[in-house]
Amino acid sequence: MMKKIQMVDLRSQYLNMKEEIDKAIHEVIDSCAFINGPAVSGFQKDLEKYLGIRNVIPCANGTDALQVAMMALGLQPGDEVITTSFTFIATAEVIALLRLTPVLVDVDPDTFNIDPKAIERAITPRTKAIVPVHLFGQSAPMEEIMAIASKHKLFVIEDNCQAIGADYIFSDGSRKKAGTIGQIGCTSFFPSKNLGCYGDGGAIFTNDDELAKQLRVVVNHGMAVRYYHDYVGVNSRLDSIQAAILKVKLQYLDQYAAKRRAAADFYDKAFAASTRLKTPSRYSRSNHVFHQYTLVTRDLDRVALIAHLNARDIPAMIYYPVPLHLQKAYLDARYKPGDFPVTEHLSNTVVSLPMHTELDEEQLKHITSSVLEFVNA
Ligand SMILES: *Cc1c(COP(=O)(O)O)cnc(C)c1O
Repeated sequence: MMKKIQMVDLRSQYLNMKEEIDKAIHEVIDSCAFINGPAVSGFQKDLEKYLGIRNVIPCANGTDALQVAMMALGLQPGDEVITTSFTFIATAEVIALLRLTPVLVDVDPDTFNIDPKAIERAITPRTKAIVPVHLFGQSAPMEEIMAIASKHKLFVIEDNCQAIGADYIFSDGSRKKAGTIGQIGCTSFFPSKNLGCYGDGGAIFTNDDELAKQLRVVVNHGMAVRYYHDYVGVNSRLDSIQAAILKVKLQYLDQYAAKRRAAADFYDKAFAASTRLKTPSRYSRSNHVFHQYTLVTRDLDRVALIAHLNARDIPAMIYYPVPLHLQKAYLDARYKPGDFPVTEHLSNTVVSLPMHTELDEEQLKHITSSVLEFVNA
């Protein structure tokens, strides 16, 4: 019998490494080092090595990672931060919470990532930072973004919650991991992310040792020396049990990416001939770790497509149905429908199919034939 198809199959993934994970969890419980301790420092070191970065600062989740990054850079109320209109809300949320001004810009229709030309047009004397999001698993155009940032003396904070493990490829052929190119990179270990734990978790990356010191102060109540608080900080820690789980899973991250790519290849091949489905473009300057496999539909009722799939026990999701500039909480006299035509078109037409490390051929065949059955009807 076919395994139940899920957007993300965390249970099958766990069962494939149950012994290792259970052992890691029990070691933490035995040690009673529940906060920080060797599990957290061990994972931190492994991740620094994997990413090729000098400093990883673990924290409680990806949203905190973004907030702490902006606090450590000393951004002040009224400072403008440029980010994409096509992303998960967390990016804009922390900007607004810190009383900074989110400045949204449109995206590239093929990669769904922030458009460097749109960034340049949005720069004002108040602009302080750019937050590119490496959406759905491939890097934003970092070389162009870093050039704009250095020309205008802006910070770059990479939101790498969806692309951990992806490489960015520079024009000279050299490679760096997504999230390690700007002043600061941020990631999330939410269970469904490419490197997910069994609860909440996050991390901040930087090659700048001074900035790393400040990030460590901010995540720890603004405190460098115990009970002396030089800054207003937050309490944001990665739980030791989660770190122990992540230390095991990090060893498999590249294998996970390969499995996601294999599933994406299967989908691409099945849908290649369809004029009503645009398969995800593979950006030549990044490899793709397929956090999501997202189709752009053409002349097609996507709600009916999703209902058709659901009736065949196939989940499908819309990431993201409402652009940031049209979200109720962020509606702002500055923005109106029509401002970001690419984002709005994508919000109205995208559909994401199941994408995870455990999809087998039987499931992929069922998904692709069910999609084509609807599309070709
Ligand atoms: C998941 C995600 C976040 C937030 O991460 P949490 O750990 O859920 O706080 C931020 N930005 C993007 C692009 C994400 O996908």
